[in-house]
Amino acid sequence: MSDATTPALTQLNDEELLFKQSVYEFADREVRPLVREMDEHAKMDKALLPKLFELGIMGIEIPEQYGGAGATLFHSVLAVEALSRVDPSVGVMVDVQNTLVINAFVRWANADLRQRYLTRLATDTIGAFCLSEAGSGSDAFALTTRAVEDGDAYRITGRKLWITNGNEADIFLVLATVNPEAGYKGITAFVVERGTPGFTTQNIERKMSLRASAIVITVCGGLSFSSSSSSRSIRSITTRPSGYMLTQT
Ligand SMILES: Cc1cc2nc3c(=O)[nH]c(=O)nc-3n(C[C@H](O)[C@H](O)[C@H](O)COP(=O)(O)OP(=O)(O)OC[C@H]3O[C@@H](n4cnc5c(N)ncnc54)[C@H](O)[C@@H]3O)c2cc1C
Repeated sequence: MSDATTPALTQLNDEELLFKQSVYEFADREVRPLVREMDEHAKMDKALLPKLFELGIMGIEIPEQYGGAGATLFHSVLAVEALSRVDPSVGVMVDVQNTLVINAFVRWANADLRQRYLTRLATDTIGAFCLSEAGSGSDAFALTTRAVEDGDAYRITGRKLWITNGNEADIFLVLATVNPEAGYKGITAFVVERGTPGFTTQNIERKMSLRASAIVITVCGGLSFSSSSSSRSIRSITTRPSGYMLTQT
């Protein structure tokens, strides 16, 4: 029996209802007219992206100090649900941005990384989360992408499959094993920026559904990062007893 002071989890409060309704009204007004064309051309309409940022749903959990909405994971769920009623391709784009990419930075990044990337993710930059591989889907810990220390640099080699936002993203979180002996605790994440030499994306064509959602293969072909490089585009999550932490390499 539910207690009188605690509403059921299935019951939204007024603020949540208003939020969900406003995202749905946005989707109805701005997304619905584009759905057929985006699906037929298997392409997200680029003009839609700034509107999603303007609405604040590309940085839902990002704290206000970094320019985000400072809301909760549950708000992300509500936004994705409201968008997906109109177009699940837009829904999954917003989902990956918030629940995978931003979530990782908010929970595990150090202050420098938060400042550097959350500010961009809140304003105009899309992120992608690169975990799955040909032989590693549900069994995520079976991933074979390797990051090998080479002096003060890491060399990352591997191939990721089914990466949502792969065409629109400028920031890719790439999961790789740095220490095979540590099992799943030896897996870490690197932040790779589009344009990094050795990092490429290939579009997966002729999908049956979610056609406007860009799902790509990413390839790290001996991608090399030096901690002393001027671009400093790579950071890693290092293992700690309590879990993984994003730190500067
Ligand atoms: C639209 C879409 C977007 C995606 N976007 C991303 C992304 O952005 N980034 C990313 O890294 N990945 C992404 N993926 C990949 C996704 O994470 C994988 O598809 C998912 O992890 C499942 O892996 P799989 O497809 O290899 O299926 P498998 O792991 O081969 O599973 C196949 C079936 O077997 C079942 N199964 C698996 N293991 C067991 C078990 N031990 N016991 C019982 N049943 C089991 C599963 O439930 C499933 O029904 C995306 C996939 C899709 C479809």
